[in-house]
Amino acid sequence: MRKKSFKAESKRLLELMINSIYSHKEIFLRELISNASDAIDKLYYHSLKDGISGLSRDEFEINIAIDKEKGTLTISDNGIGMTAQELENNLGTIAQSGSLSFKKNAGEDEEANEDIDIIGQFGVGFYSAFMVASHIEVASRAYGSEEANLWKSDGVDGYTIEPCTMEGHGSIITLTLKEDSPEEEYSRFLDQYTIDSLVRKYSDYIRYPIKMEKTRNRPVEGGDGEYEEYSEVDTLNSMVPIWKRSKSELTDEDYNRFYKDKFLDFTDPLKTIHIATEGTATFNALLYIPSKAPYNYYSRDYEKGLKLYASGVLIMDMCKELIPDCFSFVKGLVDSQDLSLNISREILQHDRQLKLIASSVEKKIKSELKKMLENDRENYEKVYANFGLQFKYGIYSSYGQNKDLLSDLLLFKSSNGDGYTTFAEYCDRMREGQKYIYYACGETPERIARMPQIERLISKGYEVLYLTDDIDEFTFKVLGNWDEKEFRSASGDDLGIEDDDKNNAEQIEKDNADMLACIKETLGDKVSKVRPSVRLMSCPVCITADGMLSLEMERVLNSAPGADQKVKADRVLEINAEHPIFEKLCKLYESDKETLSKYANMLYNQALLIEDLPIDDPVAFAAQICELMVK
Ligand code: ADP
Repeated sequence: MRKKSFKAESKRLLELMINSIYSHKEIFLRELISNASDAIDKLYYHSLKDGISGLSRDEFEINIAIDKEKGTLTISDNGIGMTAQELENNLGTIAQSGSLSFKKNAGEDEEANEDIDIIGQFGVGFYSAFMVASHIEVASRAYGSEEANLWKSDGVDGYTIEPCTMEGHGSIITLTLKEDSPEEEYSRFLDQYTIDSLVRKYSDYIRYPIKMEKTRNRPVEGGDGEYEEYSEVDTLNSMVPIWKRSKSELTDEDYNRFYKDKFLDFTDPLKTIHIATEGTATFNALLYIPSKAPYNYYSRDYEKGLKLYASGVLIMDMCKELIPDCFSFVKGLVDSQDLSLNISREILQHDRQLKLIASSVEKKIKSELKKMLENDRENYEKVYANFGLQFKYGIYSSYGQNKDLLSDLLLFKSSNGDGYTTFAEYCDRMREGQKYIYYACGETPERIARMPQIERLISKGYEVLYLTDDIDEFTFKVLGNWDEKEFRSASGDDLGIEDDDKNNAEQIEKDNADMLACIKETLGDKVSKVRPSVRLMSCPVCITADGMLSLEMERVLNSAPGADQKVKADRVLEINAEHPIFEKLCKLYESDKETLSKYANMLYNQALLIEDLPIDDPVAFAAQICELMVK
């Protein structure tokens, strides 16, 4: 019989497995059991969907058999099985992940495809058996087919497929274990207690019984201290899925292992939320907050959703209705007895029960995050660093509908120090008589801290929140206030502070109206106004914006892709009346209007530079400075 070669990438993976020095070789058993369970799931799903009679859930099982003499370990299942072609496709190459093509072939019904059980896990599963076996045989008979086939391989050299006979549908996978070596004792996988404990460790929650014939000793009746061997078939797993078990029985390790296994992450989650509720919505849920955002999290490719089980049967791999966008980073599953197995995507969207579950999940996530924020700040800040942006999008994109849910969870840097602050903490620190929550926008907290616009506010004891994400100010506009305290931009037209500075500035504006008008005329429509500043201290000038649209919003909107029609903020040039330059300007207004107009342009350019905005004519600006320098 002609031996076939593995596809290139499979071969590489296979080599890796054969020569593996991975210390947890035992995981091969979990992989094979999980494949067996998937195969049963697929058949079970078909039977439900297509109403196949004569298939009862009670008959499904996975069997493990040990043959010490032959040195083999056999894992068999009565699942969907594989045709010769499927053996070829699934075990000859990893690129063709069987679970994925099953999805594609499930029929015309697009919706059903998505609902199908089980998505291929890593796709390396089966090959891991080569870590412990020198020879592998897979006998398989697809459900509904009369023919059975035998796939054999000794490793990298290739594999053969030939017809064989087999009773019933399913697959029988026989591993001939490698010879023991000084480094590795492969024969331990022929020990029933080892296998028993591995099944309990890794596969306890598999929903079908994993059975093994065990030999035991018992005293011979009437015998004098004599023992006889007898054998008995044991079910090794409890079959209770982890989310159905009580929290007190489970360790962090159990939760983390399940997470990494099911949700394809290499790192432990930052937080696990295990819910078991009864009442208006009866369900169990296991939710995880990953410790890092997936690489595509902030892109369109990212798909949110939780796995959805109906009474323990997986009916949808990614049910997006279960999780709001603001918490789209949460991974996990929901299992409810209130849902029907045949539920389709359309029905799901309107399902009352599902809505109740979703709203309960949302509340629970919020309350857990809030608890974390209060009691485990360090970890909360990690969550926030990864996913906080999503909370802000959540507020913005729902036009503030989610604000009660989310605004308490927001964190910002501020002028109060290096750490993050919440709105509540900010308000606790408000100075007497302070009415507003102040903020300033910029690229980094360090840059904002140097902004001349906030200098006076801070010197008067007002704290300023530092907004560094593009979305921030838009979110603030949507929020409007927090606990009835309105937000005010440090660069906006009205700081809302009634004090002497303001009256003073108004007076100065009146007294110097002509000079200011002259500067405004020089600058033309670059600015809509020139006025003495109430916010500057050491800096001579700054640019601010009057009205709804800030300079920051102008920048963000105009940099958005497809923003053809540029928006323009209402720019104001503010001059510091306490700065010596102001006096100089007054004098020039009396004596030398030509120089005044040069200075006006230079000051305007300086203000742009301070604001990190481009200046119109850098060459002319440099020339003007030089002209002054040589004077
Ligand atoms: P994955 O399970 O991630 O797809 P594997 O390499 O473990 O990757 O398995 C490849 C494919 O082989 C599976 O997707 C499945 O289609 C098929 N397969 C493996 N084991 C079995 C089995 N016991 N019964 C039926 N099909 C199986």
